[in-house]
This record gives sequence, structure tokens and C-alpha cells, in this order.
Amino acid sequence: MKSMEQKILTIQNMAVQVLKKDIKNIHLNVLPPDGRVRVSVPRHVQDETIRLFIIKKLPWIKKHIANFQAQARQSERQYISGESHYFKGQRYIMRVEHASRPNIEIRNKKYIYLFVPAHYDTRQKRNYYENWLRKNLREDLIRLIPKWEKKINVQVNEIKIKKMKTRWGTCNPEEKRIWINLELVKKPEKHLEYIIVHELVHLLEKKHNERFKKLMDDFMPGWQNIREELNKFIL
Ligand SMILES: [Zn+2]
Repeated sequence: MKSMEQKILTIQNMAVQVLKKDIKNIHLNVLPPDGRVRVSVPRHVQDETIRLFIIKKLPWIKKHIANFQAQARQSERQYISGESHYFKGQRYIMRVEHASRPNIEIRNKKYIYLFVPAHYDTRQKRNYYENWLRKNLREDLIRLIPKWEKKINVQVNEIKIKKMKTRWGTCNPEEKRIWINLELVKKPEKHLEYIIVHELVHLLEKKHNERFKKLMDDFMPGWQNIREELNKFIL
């Protein structure tokens, strides 16, 4: 297999990562979490063609970058009443109330009540809230990973929940270790399941090649649509 050529083009003040590969069509992606622009092109395509293609697609690119920036702002939460917070694909309004012991409750399918001691600052509230998110995600993983291990016939040694800036999940096939992004607890369950399946399939195939795609098709037909949704999802 020939290696992939890679370079960065600056187009209208925007850094565009260009990957030259053995493919037939141009593929454009705006990637989470910060809206990085990546274009995969057939090897023979000239820079000028890429430039024109990107310029034609600018409105689409800008829309997607704006979505990711909105998501980034979303993460700078103050943990005050009235803020919206996403949890398992649903939007909730946060209500913050004082209590001697911290606690979190979902009420009326609409509110997330965050009970905290009066002296808690934003950082303490965030820590408490993120631990609660972590606990919820861990419960989902404990339920979902054995189900998919069975279907795919693989076994993971270690699963960790991580705060990651650029990946939804990672897999180390040698160590059979999987990391899942904490942010996924905010998304619908099928998004989490897609990432679990993707990472588990890496235990069978390290690369994102045709074999990988075929395995994904077998285990999760329609996975491309879920991937598309996940990368577009507006928080
Ligand atoms: Zn992968």
C-alpha cells in the first residue's frame, strides 16, 4: 500500500488539512471538537482544484465551524439556575439549590436539580456534576460493552472515561484498552454505542480500511449515518 500524503493549505485564512489517498472522490470533513477542516482527495488532484472546491463549500464549512464553536461555549458552564445542560441526548434546564449535602436529581424530564452546599464555587460544582456524569456514563458502559464484546467476539482489558479534546474514543489494540470521551454522556445512546462498536472493531482491525468498514457494516448497519449525526450534533 502506498503511503498517504499530507499537507496543510491555507485557504481564505483557514488551515485546511489535505490528505492525498487512493480514492475516487473528494471528501470534506469539519471535525469536532473545534471545527478543524480536512479534505481527502485523489492523488492526482491539484492544489488549485482543492482551493476552488473549498471556496465553493465555504458556507457549509462555516456553518459547521459555528456549530462546533457553539458546543465549545456550551462547555464553559457556570452551574447556575437556568443554564441548559445536555444529558443522554436530552436538553435539561439546570436548577441550583443549596443543601448541606451535594446531590443531583432529574425532575419532570425537564430539570436537572443540582443541590450543593452554599459555599461551593463554580469549580466545586463542576467537579461534582462531572463526577455524576462519569458515574452515569460508567453505568452505560458496564451495560453496553459486554453486550458488544459478545456480538463482536472480542474482550477488552481496560475501559477508561476521559476528557478528550479531539477524539470521541480511542483504542489501543495491543493492550486491549479503550478510552471513551466523557462528552458522550451528553449524546443519545446510539452515538455512544457507535463509538463502542468502532473501538471494539479496532481489536479486530487497527486501521480504518475496507476490512474495518466491512466489519462495521456487519455489526452496525447504517453506522455512517450515526457518525455523521454525532459529528454534527449541536449541543
Ligand atoms: Zn478508529
